Amino acid sequence: MALYVHKYGGTSVGTVERIEAVADKLKKFKDDGHDLVVVLSAMSGETNRLIGLAQQINKQPDPREMDVLVSTGEQVTIALLCMALARRGLPARSYTGAQVRITTDSMHGKARIQEIDTERMRADLDAGRIVVVAGFQGADATGNITTLGRGGSDTTGVALAAALKADECQIYTDVDGVYTTDPRVVDSARRLETITFEEMLEMASLGSKVLQIRSVEFAGKYKVPLRVLSSFTDGPGTLITTEEDNTVEKPVISGIAFNRDEAKLTIQGVPDVPGVASRILGPISAANIEVDMILQNISEDQKTDFTFSVHRNDFAKAEGILQQIMAELGARSVVGDNKIAKVSIVGVGMRSHAGVASKMFDALAKEGINIQMISTSEIKVSIVMAEKYLELAVRALHSAFDLDASDTVSEA
Ligand code: ASP
Ligand code: MG
Repeated sequence: MALYVHKYGGTSVGTVERIEAVADKLKKFKDDGHDLVVVLSAMSGETNRLIGLAQQINKQPDPREMDVLVSTGEQVTIALLCMALARRGLPARSYTGAQVRITTDSMHGKARIQEIDTERMRADLDAGRIVVVAGFQGADATGNITTLGRGGSDTTGVALAAALKADECQIYTDVDGVYTTDPRVVDSARRLETITFEEMLEMASLGSKVLQIRSVEFAGKYKVPLRVLSSFTDGPGTLITTEEDNTVEKPVISGIAFNRDEAKLTIQGVPDVPGVASRILGPISAANIEVDMILQNISEDQKTDFTFSVHRNDFAKAEGILQQIMAELGARSVVGDNKIAKVSIVGVGMRSHAGVASKMFDALAKEGINIQMISTSEIKVSIVMAEKYLELAVRALHSAFDLDASDTVSEA
């Protein structure tokens, strides 16, 4: 008998029928003798609908009132699920974040969890009840309702699992696990049996949107075994775990992530003297523009080119800032390209294998893909190239690193 924390996302509780299906699933776990704490999102689209209502009144509504408003979506689903459970003869109780006493700081709209009182949940579990908690919300020390940021129910799930020392936190969603890459781009993408927290963090920050990044950080920090699985089909999903627990022999590369929303800017012919990087990037960061890769060439004649990449939405703004800096620094010109994409290979296996980057470059060269920028970390190699080659690059790397499903059974 285990204690599980289950989290169901918006599509999994999007209609009354879906909520009934969740209740059926929970009944099976209960019949097997497990204890359950269930975290729910709002019905899909509901949080956006609530935000839309607020926007009709005020484009910049008060953050405190905003949290009172958007936290209601989850209050609806928890109550409905408890009713569905009761009809199946399963005693259950719903709680808002404040009722559990999930205490957060007072940063409305992006609050961080500080403490979780497990007493009430424990008492219910001991009495044989299923505990159903509203995701995405808490209350600050003075009782104001707070929310944890979009997608925050994942973090609620993981946080409750950590506080209750649950055997596993299971995130039920509309995909059946974490894939080697996006199956819409590569047909032969495979579901991973396991992935480490570190790899998952890289994949998530590179745009693979299965889990909220904060929830993965949280799970890694408290070593909460985390599983992503489908609420619509049966299957083992993907277990996110620590490297040490991961005894299965794994390939060097676990996954390939990519991102189309990139743009790069170069300021050419800047004087090669101390302080230039800071004079270029200072105003960029002051404008709240996040810089990803940075590249500086070796100088010729005390002049150098300075290149960096940003999110495509920030391209025009960054270009404007650089035009101004160009004049101040006496640089030659500013050039930019907002039709680039980034591809990254991710795997903890890189730590113990040499030649991973050169294998990547080789695979890209064979396809005639020109690499524009490169950056590396301990478990990741990223490259930037023209956007039109993105799909080709992902497919080439997927097969070069032996990630293609070879053991799939097909009728064709
Ligand atoms: N309902 C919230 C959102 O849509 C929280 C969540 O679903 O995790 O962002
Ligand atoms: Mg969600």
